[in-house]
Amino acid sequence: MTSLPLDRAVDAVLRIAADFDIQFVSETGKRWLTPFFKSTQLPTSFLDFLHTEDKATVQKAMEGLPESFSCDVRVGAAGSQCWVNFRSHRLSAAGDYVLSIVDISSWKTEASSLRHAADHDELTGLPNRATLKRAVAQCIQNNKSGFTVALLGLDGFKRVNDTFGHHTGDAVLVETTRRLLKVLGPTDMLARLGGDEFVMLFPNKNVLAAKQVLKNVLLAVARPYETAPYNAYLGVSVGLAEYPAHGEDYSVMLKNADTAMYKSKNAGKNRVTVFSASEASLDFSITSAMHKGIQAGEFFLEYQPQFDMGRNLVGAEALMRWTNRKWGPVGPEVFIPIAETAGLMPFLGNWALRSACHQLKLFHTLAPDFVMSVNVSPIQFDSDHFDKQVLDVIEETGIDPCRLVLEITESTLMHSQEKTERALAHLREKGIRFSIDDFGTGFSSLSYLTRLPVSSIKIDKAFVWAIAPEHTEATSDKRLISAMIHLGQSIDLHVVAEGVENETQFEFLKAAGCNLIQGYLLGKPMSAQAIRQQLVRQMSMVA
Ligand code: C2E
Ligand code: CA
Ligand code: CA
Repeated sequence: MTSLPLDRAVDAVLRIAADFDIQFVSETGKRWLTPFFKSTQLPTSFLDFLHTEDKATVQKAMEGLPESFSCDVRVGAAGSQCWVNFRSHRLSAAGDYVLSIVDISSWKTEASSLRHAADHDELTGLPNRATLKRAVAQCIQNNKSGFTVALLGLDGFKRVNDTFGHHTGDAVLVETTRRLLKVLGPTDMLARLGGDEFVMLFPNKNVLAAKQVLKNVLLAVARPYETAPYNAYLGVSVGLAEYPAHGEDYSVMLKNADTAMYKSKNAGKNRVTVFSASEASLDFSITSAMHKGIQAGEFFLEYQPQFDMGRNLVGAEALMRWTNRKWGPVGPEVFIPIAETAGLMPFLGNWALRSACHQLKLFHTLAPDFVMSVNVSPIQFDSDHFDKQVLDVIEETGIDPCRLVLEITESTLMHSQEKTERALAHLREKGIRFSIDDFGTGFSSLSYLTRLPVSSIKIDKAFVWAIAPEHTEATSDKRLISAMIHLGQSIDLHVVAEGVENETQFEFLKAAGCNLIQGYLLGKPMSAQAIRQQLVRQMSMVA
């Protein structure tokens, strides 16, 4: 076996004395090393070969003249340095050493890129969870009070991903990263946790200052995404937590920011919510009271009558009620968002649907055309079998599916997934109708109105409220209502107006061509018994 000449296995061989004086440099070593120094002559002292920061390393390694030692150091003049590893063997008791030097610059960059890969998210190049955790720990160690973390969840991302594929989804995430980085201050940090979740760390900003930045975050994400077909529109729900009030370590801060982000999602998405410890503990006690209340039968339904323009009672909307043993009546706008976060909504929603359909069956003995509207939370569509659950209820109660209307919000449709659309289509096929609740309050593209099997729109009471003699600024709202009615009818949708409280509103809506009316003017939410009595009265008047 021929052994490789030393001069070829290493990049340079040097002999140095104990005082670092260079006594010998191999020929290949001279050729390889000279370009790293900005002269034709190599330095005469080995210390002058080294980067300033590495001199001490070598001096320390040679202390006590060990038999051999090895170090990674940089050689060359400033600006043209190269990482090398050298191994040294003592030749004499006096401290002469022979050094074999190997260029390791390519390993060094590889190692640092490996380190970069471990600390960063592959797709966006942003710091990952581990890096974020270290950065938060650093802020805590620096004893910074008043720093904040914001957890960001994109609204509507899943739909883009499901509809157009992962490739488009990835492009949207990269584009979002670009937009978010633009609004950050120089000391702020953006990290990606995975999926559509990002975190902003504001080491020098309290809640107020962070909210200023987050305002721009909402605007930045709201711009159309040209990276996706049809210029997809997204939103972002944000939860904000401040140190130390909302958590004294990384995991508590993140958990609380997450709770606040879900509040943003449940309150209609695309907003910033600051974590509130007292609210969280109230939510907690409401959740446990709801569990008990379900067992104790504290939940019930009321029915708000709906009328045609001739003021005939033609249907009702089922509205959930909860009278707690200790607190008395708790409004649905309080307990429904909590039930949604606590995972109770699939159960409560299904219970409301069953109860309303049982009641509808009884109403049909008096008025066979009576129509029941039931609210459906977006959470209910997350179940894989929502359509089956509805069909089971119809079978169990024996109602005519054509007399059931499910009320869904614009945001359910805007952020809907293929699964939701399939469930809607399947149920529509079976005769069930869908109405868009709170129409006009979500900002959406309206294209869903023709794409999905919707049969009516329900104009939100905020618009109806504006039709009143005392609201002088109402002219534009009136025009808006007329336009909504026009729009609905031009694509064969029924138009329902809710929140009708006075005759002025009723007359205006009637003249504008609205089909159905719901509101305190003609009937507040009431018991099933009260609806039956009204139906009986109506029948006797006709007879
Ligand atoms: P919503 O679906 O928009 O229901 C209409 C709300 O307007 C009801 O409030 C009703 O009592 C109220 N309202 C009706 N007429 C008038 C009026 O003339 N003036 C005024 N100012 N208000 C009127 P409620 O019962 O407090 O329900 C609030 C919300 O809670 C509902 O809004 C709905 O989003 C939700 N909700 C109620 N029951 C259910 C349910 O069974 N399932 C789901 N998912 N959500 C429900
Ligand atoms: Ca409704
Ligand atoms: Ca409504």
